[in-house]
Amino acid sequence: MAFSPAMLEARPSLIGLTREELGKALVEKGLPERQVKMRVQQIWHWLYIRGVSDFDDMKNVSKDLRELLHAHFTIQRPEIVEEQISNDGTRKWLLRFPPRGAGRPVEIETVYIPEDGRGTLCVSSQVGCTLTCDFCHTGTQRLVRNLTAEEIVSQLLLARDRLGDFPDRDTPQGAIVPSEGRKITNMVMMGMGEPLYNFDHVKTAMLIASDGDGLSLSKRRITLSTSGVVPEIVRIGEETGVMLAISLHAVRDDLRDLLVPINKKYPLKDLIAACKAYPGLSNARRITFEYVMLKGVNDSLVDARDLVKLLKGIPAKINLIPFNPWPGSRYECSDWETIEAFADFINQAGYASPIRTPRGRDILAACGQLKSESERMKKTDRLAFEAMMIANHGED
Ligand code: SAH
Ligand code: SF4
Repeated sequence: MAFSPAMLEARPSLIGLTREELGKALVEKGLPERQVKMRVQQIWHWLYIRGVSDFDDMKNVSKDLRELLHAHFTIQRPEIVEEQISNDGTRKWLLRFPPRGAGRPVEIETVYIPEDGRGTLCVSSQVGCTLTCDFCHTGTQRLVRNLTAEEIVSQLLLARDRLGDFPDRDTPQGAIVPSEGRKITNMVMMGMGEPLYNFDHVKTAMLIASDGDGLSLSKRRITLSTSGVVPEIVRIGEETGVMLAISLHAVRDDLRDLLVPINKKYPLKDLIAACKAYPGLSNARRITFEYVMLKGVNDSLVDARDLVKLLKGIPAKINLIPFNPWPGSRYECSDWETIEAFADFINQAGYASPIRTPRGRDILAACGQLKSESERMKKTDRLAFEAMMIANHGED
């Protein structure tokens, strides 16, 4: 059967469906009820353990069923518009998803950060962000829509393809690399967007990513970062069991109102109460508090003292993030000595407080620098920006 490109794009994807949704979709297209359980299991295995992206590679699926799948569905990966590799090994993909049904194609960014013995994939949850945190590049992007569960899971599938985490898909024993040898060991919902404003799709995607008969990322190695959508915090913990990170950035409401404007709706008192109620907290399962270091804004030792006070009683790690500049940003990163003094203070108070080494800054892949192609810099601006980065930071 011949397919036109328009038909190919319009067909719904089987990626990102729950097992129930997958079964229902197959039955609607004519699969006999009595086969559903077995077929769902087979297809799930091919999609998430073997990592195939063509129905014809599903070797133990009958020809008739493969034809049915071809006719009605797709499992294609998104298009890679651009793949950049930083001089520190960080990779950034600009991905384009076709419209499924109405709408237009969307572009998002996904970042891979290799570190000693582990590799973290930073996944986007929305195109742009409706929130407007003052120091964040993504917050300046106009076009906003939620990503579907397909689009979220596909970021992980594509990265596993590119990094070789699905190496043996053509052999009879072929499968995902065992967890010790994988390139991607951790996943963080810290790309573009506010994940708790896209609750259902993010939840489904994280459950698929951690499914033990599939992609099998450990839930302890999946972290969702929120700017503080208080009513959804406990619920996401109850319904997924993943780790939580909070973009705190300020310890007084007046300052946080400015930096993270959702604070006006859900102030610190409510945010801290939700954190205390997060299910399963213990010393081995702590909340990460992210704190961006902005020169002269939130980086004094008084801030450090108040931070320690605010988090009293919560099993917590504090992650200090040197501010990553972007074209047009109006903040500066704190001086290195200031960051170290701040870190020492909270260390002495008993908190682990790693300073997050900026990664992939040269390709605008660091925290808060992501944006879609449609919104990216013109080449001339980019060259000017790169020159600024080198002047400010050397070749880091
Ligand atoms: N929207 C979610 C997750 C994405 S942002 C959230 O806000 O938590 C991931 C992290 O990068 C957040 O802690 C965010 O505050 C931080 N960030 C944003 N812009 C930054 C910048 N320019 N420099 C450093 N960190 C930044
Ligand atoms: Fe959105 Fe997070 Fe950026 Fe704030 S920091 S604008 S919530 S992506």
